[in-house]
Amino acid sequence: MGDGSNPKSTRQPAAMEKLVSLCAARGFVFPSSEVYGGINGFWDYGPLGVELKNNLKALWWQRMVRERDDVVGVDASIIAHPRTWEASRHVDHFSDPMVDCRACKKRFRADQLDDAGPCDSREGSSEHDFTDARNFNLMLQTQLGASEDASITAFLRPETCQSLFTDFKRVRESARQKIPFGIAQIGKAFRNEITPRNFTFRSREFEQAEMEFFVHPSERDQWFEYWRAERLQFHKDIGLDESKIRNRPHGDDELAHYARAAVDVDYLFPFDWQEIEGVHDRGDWDLSRHSEFSGKDLSITDEATKEKYTPMVIETSMGVDRTCLALLVNALQEEELEGGDVRTVMRFHPAIAPIKAAILPLSKKLRGPAKEIERELCRHWNVFYDDSGNIGRRYRRQDEAGTPFCVTFDFDSQEDGKVTVRDRDSMDQDRVAIDELVAHLQARLGFGS
Ligand code: ATP
Repeated sequence: MGDGSNPKSTRQPAAMEKLVSLCAARGFVFPSSEVYGGINGFWDYGPLGVELKNNLKALWWQRMVRERDDVVGVDASIIAHPRTWEASRHVDHFSDPMVDCRACKKRFRADQLDDAGPCDSREGSSEHDFTDARNFNLMLQTQLGASEDASITAFLRPETCQSLFTDFKRVRESARQKIPFGIAQIGKAFRNEITPRNFTFRSREFEQAEMEFFVHPSERDQWFEYWRAERLQFHKDIGLDESKIRNRPHGDDELAHYARAAVDVDYLFPFDWQEIEGVHDRGDWDLSRHSEFSGKDLSITDEATKEKYTPMVIETSMGVDRTCLALLVNALQEEELEGGDVRTVMRFHPAIAPIKAAILPLSKKLRGPAKEIERELCRHWNVFYDDSGNIGRRYRRQDEAGTPFCVTFDFDSQEDGKVTVRDRDSMDQDRVAIDELVAHLQARLGFGS
């Protein structure tokens, strides 16, 4: 829990600028539709970014689904029956208060006006001329059906969890699960955020990794505490600096009307402490509402005791893109080397790193045997071959990509059957027999490799 020992937030816009430009230059993340000037709130992950994100999702799936026999996975559709969003109250209530400035015509969230900055369209004043606040529904709409008359309005899901409730009965029965058990999903969600900002932190299209854990009412508090601790540990295990993550319990005034308890996992970004995941006790609200709106009974009867009840739900809801952003912020370091040179290095946990090893022959003449090593390693991991430019520059490129190991094949390698393995963080170099290279890297790459 937040124990007061966490560092205070200090805003560091320069650190964000550096990250955003490295992310574009190295192909981690950049604006969507960049050739058209971008589109606010939408981002594309490039060759390095997609690997990073896939590694994060795979580790989450491994931990939350594969390593457990009490959680099963699904992949539900993005568009659900429109009644879903009436039952969940998103149609009526999923909105943020919005104001417009009559002078500069910009739009702001009424609860975030401290960040609005000056108005540049008024003479003699830099104050905005705000309208009254009004509610703006954040769901993105679309029309289904070919003819306009017969079409129905549907919504792109603003959160992935609702289908985990509507699928509850089918999944429980088909997977032969008993309470307590969970259903997990990773997928896209969409919110028409009024002011997308802070790079990918607040986007209009993003991914969530969510799990709903269904429990007997008498066990809800213990399971809430279990998942709170479990999820905090996950973020430590993927390499986020422990002094920059904290649990922040919600105050009574912040809790959703149906929630009994909620705690965020926050990360200290250069722009502030901000939420990357939420753990929520949602009670029986969702199952009860979907029972009421669908007319299908979603309660269960305990086989042993014959007790009929609606399970309580503990939810864990991780933002995939926000966690990726935390991983990127957390990894970026600039390091002064002997001789005054500065190297930029992304110190990802090896299990998260987009590229696990780079194969770098000292000369283009050594391409043949070096390519053979690449072919062997790529059966195990995402690896990268590079024979262009001097070796120092190639090391630097891999440091910026966050590659934990560089494998150099030199002229001696042909004689002694050994390669040099360079460690990204210490820059130490070891001679390793080619026959033992896979085992050597396996041991040093850690969990998830
Ligand atoms: P916030 O208050 O920051 O808008 P929230 O409390 O509405 O977030 P939830 O509805 O609890 O967020 O969603 C769960 C997770 O989904 C969040 O912890 C976050 O990581 C992610 N998330 C929510 N909105 C966005 C967004 N616009 N862009 C990127 N990720 C998001």
